[in-house]
Amino acid sequence: MSFYDGSDTEGTGTRFKLFPQPPFLEAFQEPEIIEVSSPAGSVGPGPEDDRMYTIFPVDKAEPYGIGANPDGDGMYLPPWKGEILPPALPDAEGHFDYLEPGTPQFEAAHLFGSARFTMDVWEIYFDRPIQWHFKDQFEKLELTMLPSLDNALIGWGFLEAGGTHTENNGFHPYSLNFDIVAHEIGHAVVYSEVGLPVRNLDNGEYYGFHESAADLVALITTLHFPSVVETILNNTSGNLYTMNKLSRFAELSPNKQIRLAANNRVLSEFADGYEDEHDLAQPLTGAMFDILVDVFHENLLDAGLMSPEMEDLSDKLEGNPQYSSILQAAFDNNFARNPEGFRDALLQARDYLGSYLADAWQMLDADMLSYLGVGRALLDVDEEITRGRYAKIIENNFLMREVGLVKPGPRIPKAGKEGHSASARTLVPE
Ligand SMILES: [Zn+2]
Repeated sequence: MSFYDGSDTEGTGTRFKLFPQPPFLEAFQEPEIIEVSSPAGSVGPGPEDDRMYTIFPVDKAEPYGIGANPDGDGMYLPPWKGEILPPALPDAEGHFDYLEPGTPQFEAAHLFGSARFTMDVWEIYFDRPIQWHFKDQFEKLELTMLPSLDNALIGWGFLEAGGTHTENNGFHPYSLNFDIVAHEIGHAVVYSEVGLPVRNLDNGEYYGFHESAADLVALITTLHFPSVVETILNNTSGNLYTMNKLSRFAELSPNKQIRLAANNRVLSEFADGYEDEHDLAQPLTGAMFDILVDVFHENLLDAGLMSPEMEDLSDKLEGNPQYSSILQAAFDNNFARNPEGFRDALLQARDYLGSYLADAWQMLDADMLSYLGVGRALLDVDEEITRGRYAKIIENNFLMREVGLVKPGPRIPKAGKEGHSASARTLVPE
């Protein structure tokens, strides 16, 4: 298991200025300077490196994948051959963090930096490069900004970022929304490492897993911003059950759904079927989030930063809100004593989950995918790495979501809405 704290490349990588949360949300309005793994000086105008390049097309009428192909045949795919706005340029040392918000060039750098940072984090967890699922046709991912698109999606050779038009003629570009870019990169990781089903095309658990995995990629990568970790711990004193920032990720999702990682949803809610795979994803994401919190608690126990009585209280919390203030007081007390210890415990839990997910996803088969299979893969990984230290935590959290007890029903068609199974994301040539 490898650990990564975002500073591994310090001094050698390329600097970008990123908003951990979109600047139009209340919290985290200050951008943070981070380094991506591409060596300083290796990222060209665009930005562009050996894996991806960014462009801001002029007068691009249609998004890729769907709609009329201007070339007239098959799918509409990169590269964009028309005019583009002037690219973001590196400074004399090769960095992009000198760019200030408010220009298309800052947006381009932000989109690239977000995608590159997410890949960096997950390539550490996978302990090797993650190939693009479209690598046979395209060497690089095209990161495209398309303001007319009310969505963001990754597809065959492209990640296209649109945005949301607000009431007062405002526009919130998804290129500035780290969660959304990271979520789309998460889809690419799953396409590459798990693959697409070829036989079992109606398996809802595959699509629910896809959304869940993409959200988890965004969630875990967000925890690599030191400012996010600090804010979360300062706001909660490490009592993660009450914190809300982390679980509000993807709030401005393309589907305008609030996807809660700290949710209580269970599979029996979907026994008769599901309308949207984002909903079906929630029991799985919730189980993973609870595993993260439980492992964090184990780490705090080991470090003497949480007493067994506190753990007992937090276990009872869900059904008994009156314990909440007693528990919070205990967290406040302990956190004040040793904030660094809390930080280490959280980063270890983050890296535990990231590494376990990377190992487990590689064991899955897209055609046979089930939530139960995901749980079993995690148990296998845990057995191999810790001889089953966290087996009870994994089993209990999957059981609480009724994984293995209830199978979700079929997809219920929703008027005017398409799931990913028929979207531009999953279409491949031929
Ligand atoms: Zn998605």
